[in-house]
Amino acid sequence: MGGQQEEEHSAVRLFREYLRIRTVHPQPDYDCAIEFLEKLGVELALSCKKVEVSPSRVILILTWEGTDPKLKSILLNSHTDVVPVFEEHWKHDPFAALKDEQGNIYGRGSQDMKCVTIQYIEAIRRLKSEGKRFPRTIHLLIVPDEEIGGQNGMVKFIEREEFGALNVGFGLDEGLANPGDAFTVFYGERNVWWVTVRCPGSPGHGSRFIENNAAEKVRRVINSFLDFREKEKKRLNLSECLTLGDVTTVNLTFLQGGVAFNVVPEELTASFDIRIPPTVDLKAFEEQIKTWCQEAGDGVVYEFHQKNMDQALTSIDKSDPWWSAFSSTCQQMDMTLQCEIFPAATDSRFIRAIGYPAIGFSPMNRTPILLHDHNEYLNERIFLTGINIYTSLIPALASVSPLEGEA
Ligand code: ZN
Repeated sequence: MGGQQEEEHSAVRLFREYLRIRTVHPQPDYDCAIEFLEKLGVELALSCKKVEVSPSRVILILTWEGTDPKLKSILLNSHTDVVPVFEEHWKHDPFAALKDEQGNIYGRGSQDMKCVTIQYIEAIRRLKSEGKRFPRTIHLLIVPDEEIGGQNGMVKFIEREEFGALNVGFGLDEGLANPGDAFTVFYGERNVWWVTVRCPGSPGHGSRFIENNAAEKVRRVINSFLDFREKEKKRLNLSECLTLGDVTTVNLTFLQGGVAFNVVPEELTASFDIRIPPTVDLKAFEEQIKTWCQEAGDGVVYEFHQKNMDQALTSIDKSDPWWSAFSSTCQQMDMTLQCEIFPAATDSRFIRAIGYPAIGFSPMNRTPILLHDHNEYLNERIFLTGINIYTSLIPALASVSPLEGEA
């Protein structure tokens, strides 16, 4: 019998190699990741292009030209960076890519989303080795900084002419694992609002009953926001057809103010992280916030640190040619799809916001959702099945017949 090393699939070996590159915030080793992926691109005879969108922030584009390059292209997006780890909570070194006896590969980024990058590459390797070609051009887009908001990654890139030159028709980006047999597919995302509410009040000595004080106001503000939170939580728990992406979540994330134990402060602030589904009337919701502030007392105001207003959804209607190609291919593979609104945020929101359809999909079923969590892992069989899935999906998408207005 051969050792584990000899039996390992070359794609798994590559995946594990990629996991060992420390692209972890706050100081991700992007150079090493780009070098690693570019080498793979060259190996597959893909054309490689690098665009530095911000200092030390490089976007790598690996392109497989279609037989009809005038047609709109397929964008396969993935990010290289991963979130930090609390090493003391991990069973194994998060950057060693250890594989246990069950074939579970432990590593930061194993689900989010180094698996997907390697799966795209391996699917293309397979298709190329079979001598396949498709009408539409396929671009593998590899971006930095997704985990810190994409401001120096995808956001900068979509403003550049190099992005326009990709002539994108349809995009795939990351999704989430599904613990059951089904695969989750995301066709929209919630909007992120980060709000700080400032509550001014009369300062004074801590031994007295000061009128018009900041604490009473901030208490009312917190009550309004958290009462609403409770309502949304109930709504989610009472309905079987709702997922996290369908309700608004509110969390109090900062509470600031005060100078001394015996001084009533002249201002207290409360900050909230709010995630709003695309079905919510954003104007009405902001009115609600305004009302809560007015009701809290004199001078209470709010300000935004982040306020996303895009409510674009990608069509999951059978009549949509992209969705039809995607979903019918999955059906042929006997995959059950669960279509949801992404509860957090990914780079695909920027792609949707400028009018391109994009689906969030990471082919991981029978897998606990461990992104950003301790002991993030992916089983090698699930990983390898994901390559099979892309090996069918990519040809289907890259062969979608010319749409109206296309050459
Ligand atoms: Zn991610």
